[in-house]
This record gives sequence, structure tokens and C-alpha cells, in this order.
Amino acid sequence: APTIMWFRDDLRLADNPALSAAVAAGPVVCVYIHDPALKLGGAEKWWLHGALEALDADLRAHGGQLCLMTGAEQDSLVWLARALGARGVEWNRRYAGPARTRDAAIKATLRAGGLAAQSHPGNMLHEPWQVRTKQGSPFRVFTPWWRALQAMGPPLPPLPVPHGLATALAAAPVQAAATERLVPLAALSLRPATPDWAAGLRATWQPGEAAARKRLDTFVAERLPGYATARDLPAQPATSGLSPCLRFGHLSSRQVWHAVDAHGAGDRDAASFLSELGWRDFAHSTLFDFPDMATRSLRPEFDAMPWRTDPAGLRAWQRGRTGYPIIDAGMRELWHTGCMHNRVRMIVASFLTKHLLLDWRVGEQWFADTLVDADVASNPFNWQWVAGCGLDAAPYFRIFNPVLQGEKFDPEGAYVRHWVPEIARLPGRAIHTPWKADLPAGTRYPTPVVDLAGGRTRALAAWKALQPRL
Ligand code: FAD
Repeated sequence: APTIMWFRDDLRLADNPALSAAVAAGPVVCVYIHDPALKLGGAEKWWLHGALEALDADLRAHGGQLCLMTGAEQDSLVWLARALGARGVEWNRRYAGPARTRDAAIKATLRAGGLAAQSHPGNMLHEPWQVRTKQGSPFRVFTPWWRALQAMGPPLPPLPVPHGLATALAAAPVQAAATERLVPLAALSLRPATPDWAAGLRATWQPGEAAARKRLDTFVAERLPGYATARDLPAQPATSGLSPCLRFGHLSSRQVWHAVDAHGAGDRDAASFLSELGWRDFAHSTLFDFPDMATRSLRPEFDAMPWRTDPAGLRAWQRGRTGYPIIDAGMRELWHTGCMHNRVRMIVASFLTKHLLLDWRVGEQWFADTLVDADVASNPFNWQWVAGCGLDAAPYFRIFNPVLQGEKFDPEGAYVRHWVPEIARLPGRAIHTPWKADLPAGTRYPTPVVDLAGGRTRALAAWKALQPRL
């Protein structure tokens, strides 16, 4: 009887513990279940289409295929297991509260039906419950957490593509009865129809395990040296661009960790990169311990924050028309490529939650819809971090000035000139303060949506009013 390999956020063949366990057990059928009720963002859906296509091609190269189903996960999985007469199901763990609840129910149902159901550690450096304070409680601050994680030694070495994969796939042809509820990829409607807004995504990204591996190898060889100094400069292609590959599991964080550690063991650039990778695990661990992190401020005092509603301000922010060049450059980069440089993410998030005094959840939702790397943990974690209501967060009173941030991190203005071409001809640093310049007649660039000093004062006053509660 075949084992079902249930792919989720682990769309790869190498270092996939669940797949290795399935292959070790005998014949294997691979499935991905798309539940339309579990909302995915537009950019994520675009990526997922390419990712499923690539995984199917990789499985076909080994003589198999990826079966696709649509509907509720439990119902689909139980139906498939019956139709195939399967012996069991293997999967890699997820860590968000709702997904854990679903997984626990599915495991119990399968086991009650006499099937083997086994979950595996596939997506983190170490499992969240393994990294604890001496008292056994969750860490609330990154640095001691990171020290504790490092003290556990290197993460497990990555597994190869399972040796018997082709044999296991060939031994489990999908019988006619089981094909009844399988659907073609197009039926999942993951790509935009009209308007087709994905041209910039197509020009920027190539989903799939092979492309991710290539991206990792190129990064390690060419950009890791110098990462620590250049990673904060958005005009330079200094970072890895691996976040969507990690989000969809084309690579495991263990593979990335070992590739970087082997190349630059102990040096400043490798240490800096590995600690960034650590933030990803810290975000997931925090979500594991605080399951409502995605929707609730981790510091409950912030529930009383007088967030404003400002549809015009929000729209200007979303469309990159705030009149502040570094903000507009970032928001346009996001719209066009499905990604935004980390430094600029921090600047635009600070602007939204402080100068515009809009709820961090509003920004988080826009990011969730537009980022190809939109992540259930990293996205809300970082929004809360910037907004000042998260764990180990930047204090609320630290309000980024977008002009000074632009001058510091985009000193030549190259990043702004690329994304905000209508003001590209402004010389030198004047690029960051276009309202002070004589723009040529006909230049269609907005005046600032909010006065920086006024917005800052308003934000500080709102925050100070929370003080008795803080
Ligand atoms: P690199 O500098 O090459 O870093 C390597 C990897 O480390 C990244 O791919 C990522 O997996 C991880 N990483 C780096 N910084 C962080 C961080 N601060 N938090 C968590 N992981 C990190 N990252 C996401 O993956 N998904 C999100 O939805 C997301 N939303 C964010 C929202 C805001 C408001 C902010 C400020 C940051 C957010 N980040 C998110 C974190 C970070 O901006 C991206 O991971 C990074 O820009 C991805 O580019 P890179 O792969 O080139 O990064």
C-alpha cells in the first residue's frame, strides 16, 4: 500500500524529512491540497502556481507526478487515502496556531481510521519547543534566544533527495479511482487573469527548487562577502533574495544555514547573515508560543492605541504616492516585484504606523497580499516589531524620519531614482526632499500627505496617552 506525501510549505525534494520517511516506507503518492478558504495573498498565489508547476516537473523527472486537489484539507486527504488504500500520510510541520489545530485533527482522524500519520521537522533550524530559557519558558528577546539556539550546535545536516525516490514513485501509479477528485493546476486559478498585474513578478522571480538552489549558490559565491556592510543599502543587490524560497520551502533553513556556514564559517558576513536567518526562526517560534500574534498586539496595552482611519492616506501609501521618495520607491518596488528591501520595509512600516498613525494590521494585510514572501510569522512579527507593540520591539518613540533614512541608506539616491523616475533628474540629495525643489512644469509627483513634524508629534502624543497602561 502506498504512503501519501502531503506537500505544504515544503515544496522541494532535497532535505525533506517527510518525503524521505515516505520513500523509506515503500511506494509513494505525492499530493498538494489547495483550500481556497485559507486565504492566500495575490502575489503568494502567483508564486504558488509556479512552485507547483516546478515540483510536478521535478517529480516527473523521477517518474512520478504531483497530484493536486482543491477543498478542505482533512476531507481531501481522508478521501485520497481511502481511494488509494494508503498505509499512511507523512508531512512536515507548520507552526501557526490554526494550521497546528488542523494538523492535530487530521492526525487524529487518520490514526482513528487505522492509518499511519507522521509529522516531521522540516522548516526550522530547531523546533520551537527545543529552544527554551532555563526555566523552560519561551524567550521574549532575540539575542539570548539566538545564543541558546547556537549553543545547541549546528542544525541537522541536510538530507539528500531520497535515494529510492524513483522506485517509490514508480511503485505507486495513481489508479483511476483516485483520479476522480484530482484537478489540473489551472483549475486552482492561482494566476491573475485580467488585469494581468504579474509582469513585474515574472521578470523578477523564478519559483521552484532548482532556481532557489541556484540563487543560494550565487549568493554564497558572489554576495556573501560584504553582506554585513551592504545589506542595509537598498540600491545594491547585496542580500540573498531567498525569502520567497524559504516561505515556500524550496529550500530549508537548514540547507541555507549549512551552505553559508561552510563558506564563511565564523566570519563577520556569515555571522550577520545567519543571525538574519535566525530572525525567521524567532518569528516562527514567537508565533508558536503566541498563536494570536498575527492579529493581536503582543503588548496588550496597544489595544487602546487610537489608530486613525484615513482612506486617502492609506491609498497614497499603498500606491507609492505619499510625496516622500524613499517611501514611494519602496511601495512601488513592492507592487512591481512582489518584494521590498528590508531597510525600506522598516521605513514604510514606521511611516504608516507612526506618521500616519494607522493600525499595523492594515499594513500587514497589504504586505500579505502583495509580497511573494508573505509569511504567517515573519510578516506580523516584523510589523509588530516596527510598530513597537511586539516582542523585543523597537520602542514606539523611535520614529524613522524618511528623509534622513533616505539620505543615510540611499545616499546617491539611486534606489529612489529607479522607482520614482518622475523626479530622477533632481540633483544629489535634493532627490529626498522634492517639495523643496523647483520641479519642472508638468512633473506629476504628489506633495507630502502628512507633515513630518506634525505626524511625529501626533504619534508621540497618542503613545504617551498609553503610558499609564504601559
Ligand atoms: P537576506 O538579508 O538575504 O536574509 C536572509 C533570510 O533571513 C531572509 O530570506 C529571511 O528568510 C530571513 N530574514 C531576514 N531578515 C528577517 C527578519 N527581519 N525577520 C524574519 N526573517 C528575516 N520576511 C519574510 O520572509 N516574509 C515577510 O512577510 C516579511 N514581512 C516583513 C514585514 C516588515 C514590516 C519588515 C520590516 C520585514 C519583513 N520581513 C519579512 C523580513 C525581511 O524584510 C525579509 O525577510 C527580507 O527583506 C528578505 O530579503 P532577503 O531574502 O534578500 O534577505
